[in-house]
Amino acid sequence: MWEYLIHGEPTPRLKPFLEGVGKALEAQGFRHNPESEAPNLVLNAITPENPRPYRRRAQATFVASVLELPEFPQDPLRELYPYLVRALSNVLLAYVPGQGVKFLTLELGHYGEPEGKGFYERVAARLRPIACSRLVINNIFEPDLEPELWQGDELTESMYRAGKKLKEWDLLPAPFPIEEILPPEDLRHVKRLYGIGGLSYGNLSVRKDEKRFWMSASGVDKANLREIGRDILMVKDYDPERNAILLSVPPHVEPRRVSVDAIEHWMIYREHPEVGAILHVHAWMEGVPATAFNYPCGTYELAQAVADKVREAPDPARAVVGLKNHGLTITGRSLDEILERIEGKLIRTVPMA
Ligand SMILES: [Zn+2]
Repeated sequence: MWEYLIHGEPTPRLKPFLEGVGKALEAQGFRHNPESEAPNLVLNAITPENPRPYRRRAQATFVASVLELPEFPQDPLRELYPYLVRALSNVLLAYVPGQGVKFLTLELGHYGEPEGKGFYERVAARLRPIACSRLVINNIFEPDLEPELWQGDELTESMYRAGKKLKEWDLLPAPFPIEEILPPEDLRHVKRLYGIGGLSYGNLSVRKDEKRFWMSASGVDKANLREIGRDILMVKDYDPERNAILLSVPPHVEPRRVSVDAIEHWMIYREHPEVGAILHVHAWMEGVPATAFNYPCGTYELAQAVADKVREAPDPARAVVGLKNHGLTITGRSLDEILERIEGKLIRTVPMA
């Protein structure tokens, strides 16, 4: 059974909101357990003056920080994102009494639920898939990469070229300056929690052989993918028992973490031998099929939802899949082929619903 608890000291008008959402969660299969050591979901009441984090003891705990505001900000990303990060949350809910709630995700998704009929149920239904998903962000590094690959190969060269192209197309948003709003201790915590090297968006990978693929590292500048083990990693497998991504690295480097979406790429490569490359960008394209839920990056559920859509595509080796409120995952024979196919077709703003 899924468990949730309410943390922090809610303001007087936040209290009934949290209780309403709590009741709706209970009707959707959650149990309220204020003593839980490893709840699936924490509703963390914060204020703008004091966005106090809930300190998780388990990676599987998803934290939804909830904030009461007098009105919705003009620019929700800019004004609300710092609270999301400072409260070490997976998602932020900004509640404006009488109007509704705005959700903001780590992947820069933002969407609202207006107050009115079935309000709490709708909010709970948005939180449920987030809270019930499982992160696959552990990395296990094995210093067994063949010496002839320590300097990369023609495939990593194609990743370098593709990264440059994405920069040219202005598809690489500046990494969010997370270090500017978090003290170093919290920054370390955030990186460990989300399995990220920093916040930057988008990633790319290329198949090496039947089992392995090269993939961009987390939080690095995609416009300059060069060093093996630091900018680009060799993914060799997923270990379900340890729930970890296995990586081959050169023995002499201090490796960086692979992109959190490695599990998604792994699933697609394993199922479709003809897929040679995968690109993920925070952009959109007219008329693409999209996942139904807004699962967080790096979760097994997001990977499955994307893999399902790839499977349903007329040609899985040339598929464009929308990730709801998030971006696109595109498969192809090679990165060059993908870029050729999508040139001029991308819309920079992802629709939010
Ligand atoms: Zn993404």
